[in-house]
Amino acid sequence: MEKKNLDWENIGFAYHQTDKRYVSNFKNGQWDEGTLTSDPNVVLNECAGIFHYCQECFEGLKAYTTEDGSIVTFRPDQNAERMMNSAKGLEMPPFPKERFLDAVDQVVRANEDWVPPYGSGATLYIRPYMFASSPVIGVKPAEEYQFRILCTPVGPYFKGGAKPITICVSDFDRAAPHGTGCIKAGLNYAMSLHAGMAAHRNGFDENMFLDPAERKYVEETGGANFLFVTKDGELVTPKSDSILPSITRRSLIYVAEHYLGIKATERPVELAEIGEFAECGVCGTAAVVSPVGKVVDHGKEICFPSGMEKMGPVLQKLYDTLTGIQMGRIEAPEGWIRKIK
Ligand SMILES: *Cc1c(COP(=O)(O)O)cnc(C)c1O
Repeated sequence: MEKKNLDWENIGFAYHQTDKRYVSNFKNGQWDEGTLTSDPNVVLNECAGIFHYCQECFEGLKAYTTEDGSIVTFRPDQNAERMMNSAKGLEMPPFPKERFLDAVDQVVRANEDWVPPYGSGATLYIRPYMFASSPVIGVKPAEEYQFRILCTPVGPYFKGGAKPITICVSDFDRAAPHGTGCIKAGLNYAMSLHAGMAAHRNGFDENMFLDPAERKYVEETGGANFLFVTKDGELVTPKSDSILPSITRRSLIYVAEHYLGIKATERPVELAEIGEFAECGVCGTAAVVSPVGKVVDHGKEICFPSGMEKMGPVLQKLYDTLTGIQMGRIEAPEGWIRKIK
């Protein structure tokens, strides 16, 4: 077996069909034993629940080739648990954690040739997802579900270093109070697409969504949590029940406190106070940390002192430490790295 001959640095964040994917079906109240398949197509009945009432949730994680040539995943147990939680929130049967972990291992092993080499900046993106597969016409949860895991190699999120992005304060909401904001469900993304395209058409990279009840506090972007750094070099992250609990954010908070001696506080952050921060960024599995240089609130520009050229020094340190842990250059906290090969 040989590595695929891809231009790893330039493949971008796009779908490449790989060799194998995992499928398990839930029927008669239980999950079947699951299997790997070469078939990338899903054939469903026209009335399948996913098409009509959007019962679907997903996860995103990565496999990396580390400095010593091993293939590892990063905190997959956290994805397994979050997906079980998402499933419960959508009245879907949770896929058991141990089975999730085993299925991820199987998919990565079966697509080993697609795991980008160390140093390329590229990684293997893994997408577990689950959807209602049996017919539903009256509004209720389906009886049958399918759980799948696909993987695709993805290039470095930022070629030639992360350039700070510009974000606009959105007039749309990403989630409702007491709604599905804390669930990793496709439905949250469906409704964020219009807001996202509107932001792009106006020349912005992303939206800052505010809390849907009062529009006073910072929530997150369409798919990444906010990070702020105070002028004293402390990390502050917004707290809200309608923010998706990012594993990257939680990992960065741990790294701040336990590796770098940086104080980290999770608290409600008012839009009105963000001009006081020294650095801003957004975080998630895809890019780890993207620096934010500017937030525009209906014409009013809030420019962070870290500027539009590079990531601020505290976020850079956090980024370097977390990616160092992921790539095996820095010793990881117990249980964070799952070695697959
Ligand atoms: C997945 C996701 C994130 C990032 O979570 P990670 O676990 O760090 O990848 C942030 N916000 C939303 C809405 C998400 O769906």
